[in-house]
Amino acid sequence: MTANANIVTGLAKIGMVLRSEAWQRTEVTGLSPTQAQILAHLVQRGPTRVGAVAAAIAVTQPTASDAVTALVRKGYVERRPDPEDARAAQLHPTKAGRRLAEELAVWPDALLAAVDALDPSEGAAFVKALVKMIRTLQERGAIPVQRMCVSCRHFRPNAHSDAARPHHCAFVDAAFGDAALRLDCGEHVAADASVQLESWARFKEAAA
Ligand code: SF4
Repeated sequence: MTANANIVTGLAKIGMVLRSEAWQRTEVTGLSPTQAQILAHLVQRGPTRVGAVAAAIAVTQPTASDAVTALVRKGYVERRPDPEDARAAQLHPTKAGRRLAEELAVWPDALLAAVDALDPSEGAAFVKALVKMIRTLQERGAIPVQRMCVSCRHFRPNAHSDAARPHHCAFVDAAFGDAALRLDCGEHVAADASVQLESWARFKEAAA
């Protein structure tokens, strides 16, 4: 088996753990995996419309609408008028929804143990590899655009000579290493397309 085939097989096995966990949680919480994803998205990113949620979690709008209707019925989400367009509705998590989202945000023990088994250099290399893979998946339209450092206006790749912490975040004005590259950052601001390309080229040099 080639290295690439091994990687895809390994990712599929990790995906199996995540899917299994998601369905086990369904039995406990009564939320389908899609409903749980929507609730987590609203808590992390704030109120938004159903179309934006559907795009963010890569499901169709009818699928998202059905899941939202169920979340509203269960008391975890409420619809309020959008301040920018009173004819449209924004989705807000309720207090009960926020509490449940906190419980759902805990990763399965088995997965945490598997990640803990990596030594620091393996962890940093894994994060870097994930960034590359996720960026390629985004470019192919296979997943929604993520709020990663490599597309952020504040990211300065390879800005420092310190091999352990070569990158710089201008938002917090601090150096950091590959292990701390963010895959979903609340402070992310998308850089212009040309800046993203330059930044990516510098990041790859840094990674070489
Ligand atoms: S603001 Fe967040 S996404 Fe942007 S460079 Fe800093 S850590 Fe990375």
